[in-house]
Amino acid sequence: SSHPDRLIAPMPALTDTDVLRIRNDFPILAQDVNGQPLVYLDSGATSQKPISVMEAEQEFYEQRNSAVHRGAHTLAVAATDVFEDARATVAAFIGAQENELIWTANATAGLNLLAYSFGNASIGEVPPEARQFAVGPGDEVLVTEMEHHANLVPWQELCRRTGAGLKFIPVMDDGTLDMEAASALFTQRTKVFSFTHVSNVTGVINPVVELTRMAHDVGALVILDACQSAPHLALDVKALDIDFAVFSGHKMLAPTGIGALFGRAELLDAMPPFLTGGSMITTVTMEKARYLPAPQRFEAGTQAISQAAALAAAVNYLTETGMERIHQWESLLGQRMVAGLDAIPGIRVLGPPVGIPRAGLAAFEVDGVHAHDVGQYLDSAGIAVRVGHHCAQPLHRRLGLNASTRASAYLYNTTAEVDAFLAAVARVRPYFG
Ligand code: PLP
Repeated sequence: SSHPDRLIAPMPALTDTDVLRIRNDFPILAQDVNGQPLVYLDSGATSQKPISVMEAEQEFYEQRNSAVHRGAHTLAVAATDVFEDARATVAAFIGAQENELIWTANATAGLNLLAYSFGNASIGEVPPEARQFAVGPGDEVLVTEMEHHANLVPWQELCRRTGAGLKFIPVMDDGTLDMEAASALFTQRTKVFSFTHVSNVTGVINPVVELTRMAHDVGALVILDACQSAPHLALDVKALDIDFAVFSGHKMLAPTGIGALFGRAELLDAMPPFLTGGSMITTVTMEKARYLPAPQRFEAGTQAISQAAALAAAVNYLTETGMERIHQWESLLGQRMVAGLDAIPGIRVLGPPVGIPRAGLAAFEVDGVHAHDVGQYLDSAGIAVRVGHHCAQPLHRRLGLNASTRASAYLYNTTAEVDAFLAAVARVRPYFG
């Protein structure tokens, strides 16, 4: 495999000393909030950006800004090189080929692209190779009960438009998927299975290989929402054997407005386009258009070029730090959070107990105090967390609550910050008591 982590010698585990050095690359972290040093524990929502990423975007505008793929002039060639080199870098980061990586605005846009493309394959006259994506009455789209709304609502809409049915794998009390129920839900009717790699609420890491095998055994297409995994662990789409994956740049050190969709080449070239217009066609008459192969087939209109360059810089930063080390460090922080929260009276942590693998995040309920009050109290101590349903209302409902407070770490968080967070959480109930 071409995963960049395999090309370099193993690096020693990250320590707080390394993280303090990493923090120097993130100027936003060196500030006080409400008179306290900022403790940023909201990277699950969006990450902070290192200087190299901001410089990549600025350098593009200072040196190379131009439209890509058209135009014979020198700047247009330079901009096209930056754009396509960025594609190669991001594709290699997840073990994909260049023509298998489509730029999107974010993960939400990638999932909608798939749902609308499959919808376009389901109506009117379509080329024979597109029929494999068609869904209709009697077919099923399968998701899970832990999905972010971005991986649920587009499928509800596809089913509404086509008459296909929507099913879901239920979640157990500990936040993991009910694998016994899952095995009964994969049937010959299952056409699409779309699920998250890592839950943005419980930090559960789903068994991707096992679930993918179950889906492929019944001939379903497999889509992985890698929004909470691509930034945090070594993702290899070929090793996982998935058909599609989506992720967002802003959660992995890059700017907003850029994300990616991975798709196996032979699938992408057979899929109907979603957005149509300029830059995605070969010939156009007044009656009809012919489309380019992937990736251009799915990149209608002027793209987020400087953001793509910045996402490549972000990927380089992550690769140089080492995805295995980042995952290890964040696992350690996640376990420290859960163990610390468990020791505080009146706190209920959502998801797996301490000792069971989870991502570097923890969502929790404070007995008798609303999540919004918890968030405000922590903010007064300089600690940034997220409160609410985290775009996962069905999962919250399943776990018996409307809202929770979520702390989510990244490679720039220290153990001292986790401890400051825990100390502040311990003061919440006495304060509101
Ligand atoms: N999927 C998961 C698991 C997420 O955590 C998020 C973001 O919170 C998304 C999808 C949607 O990402 P975006 O808003 O960047 O499209």
